[in-house]
Formats: sequence, structure tokens, C-alpha cells
Amino acid sequence: MPVGTAATVKAVAQDVLEGIGAEGLGAQIILANTYHLYLRPGHELIARLGGVHDFMSWTRPMLTDSGGFQVFSLSKLRKITDDGVEFRSHLDGSKHFFSPEHSIDVQIALGADIAMVFDECVEHPASYERTRASMGLTHAWAARSKEHFEKHKQRVPWFERVGAGETQRLFGIVQGGMYADLRRESAERLVEIDFPGYAIGGLAVGEPREVTREMIARTLELLPKDKPRYVMGVGYPDEIEEYAKMGVDMMDCVLPTRAGRHGLVFAREGGAIVRMNIKRKEYAEDQGPIDAACSCMVCQRYSRAYLRHLFTTGEALSATLNSIHNLAFYLDTMSRVRGELATTN
Ligand SMILES: [Zn+2]
Repeated sequence: MPVGTAATVKAVAQDVLEGIGAEGLGAQIILANTYHLYLRPGHELIARLGGVHDFMSWTRPMLTDSGGFQVFSLSKLRKITDDGVEFRSHLDGSKHFFSPEHSIDVQIALGADIAMVFDECVEHPASYERTRASMGLTHAWAARSKEHFEKHKQRVPWFERVGAGETQRLFGIVQGGMYADLRRESAERLVEIDFPGYAIGGLAVGEPREVTREMIARTLELLPKDKPRYVMGVGYPDEIEEYAKMGVDMMDCVLPTRAGRHGLVFAREGGAIVRMNIKRKEYAEDQGPIDAACSCMVCQRYSRAYLRHLFTTGEALSATLNSIHNLAFYLDTMSRVRGELATTN
């Protein structure tokens, strides 16, 4: 899932997103961040305009996170109680309060197809006791999120228009830090509460990759195979390939677009994935594409020399073209993995 933080996948227009990647299938689902949209332009404004799909003219599926991750990573002066989190906006210092109920209200107003329960994101590293206490809070908040969602889900801006009683789906989030037994306990508790899909949160926060892999593996064992299983905030192309093959169905990451804006593009060289820094002098007169095997519109048309020029002169098109290639590279990776899984299973 490409990340469209503020209802835009940065530097890439919606019609381009719809056609990007293998066989021109495009991005089938994108993510938007509740925290950012709540602060600007405001969830009530977006609800008045019909919800986030109408607002940004995107008819395919969308997912919103709960806002929790940004509250814990971006905002200032957080005060956490059992009830929720008080924080100050990273934009203007204004004071706000997010509880599970409020996060759900905001996400219902935004109206993405998939909403997430509000959870506490524990810092890394965190002690066993601290992680265990935080996980307990996350479980209580998951139950409250679900209860509130069930009570108010018909308020979604498109409820009448779509009809047939169709509503959003609310996914649970497994926490438990880097402790396998806590991950187990968390997965069991969430399955008990019962959600139509499950996320594994709190990973890729600076731990070694083998720990990430182990936590995912231990958690997947306990999550129902017939429901979507989503690892939040990963990763490099080789990581998403590995996790998909372990049984992960959904992932989101800012990396393809963020790296693209910084002039980092992904390519395949002799079976290995390489990260190219497009600003390097060696590309100044290189007439080849980023990746000769890539069928994206950027590789079909533009040379490394031109992309280097756009980046070094700070042209706006640089971010757009680099992001399009990287998104295509990610979507192509997943398309190839799906093909491989289809033939092995
Ligand atoms: Zn390409």
C-alpha cells in the first residue's frame, strides 16, 4: 500500500497511481494518515465533502491508521492516561486529545474502507514490564475501539449512498514489542475480541531485522489464515518479499516515495536489489534507464542522466519521476511474489 499521508501519495497524481506497475494494474489500495488529516484540513470538513475518497477523487480502497503512531512519534508533550492521549500538534502547538473513541469517530468521518483500532506504540527499546503494561492498555483500547465502531459505523459519510448496509471494516493491532510471549498473548487477546483483519504493529522501529522476522513469524502462527494479516510500516523491497512469502497479506511503507524524493531509486542488478543514488556524478552522461528490466513509464522514457539533472537542479519533476519508478518497483515485486506463491501453493 503506497502511503498517502495527507490524502496524497506525495508528488504522484491519482490517475498515475491507477496505472502504475505490473500490467498497468496500479495501486489497488492506498493508506492515509488520520493524525495529519485530523489536523489539516480536519475530519469534519472531509466528511462534509463526502469522505476521503470523494475528497481526493480516489475510487479504489483506502485504509486509515488510527493516528496513534503519529501522536507518539510526531507530537509534543504527550500525556497518556487509561482514557487516551493528550498531545500538542507538531504544526502549531495546539492542544488535542485522542481516545480510542475519538480516533474511531475521526476515522468514520474520513470514511476509508479499512480503519484501525487506536493503540499505544511503545518506544524502542522498552523493558519487558513497560511493554507488558503498554500492551494491556492497547488491548483495552482495542475493545473500546470496536465497541464504539459497532455503535457508530453507520455514520460513515457514504453509508446511504453505497447502501446494502455496507460499512467500513475495523482491524485490530497486535503489539507486544520484541517479546515473543507478549506477541503471543496479544495475538490471542485480539483474536478473542474478533476483528475482520489483523495488523502486527510496533515493528521496524530500529530493532535488528532477524528480530522483526521472528516477531512476525511468531504472531502469524496465531492469526487466522482466512483473514487479512497486515504488517505496518515495512520495508525495503527484499523485506516485503520475504514477509509476503511468510504469509503477510498487506504492508505499507513510505519508503518508495520518501526515498524517491531524496534521489534514491531501486533497481535490480543480476537478481540482487540495489539502491542507486541518482545524484552521483557517474550518471551525468548515462543514457540508460534506472532499471533496464523495469517496464514503468519512467524507465521507458527517461535516462539516468536526465533524472540526475532534475534532482541536482531541484526540479519538482524529480520527486514525481523517482517516486513513480519506486512505486512501480514495489508493485512489480509484489506482483512477482503473488505469481510465485500461486504456483507453489
Ligand atoms: Zn522503472
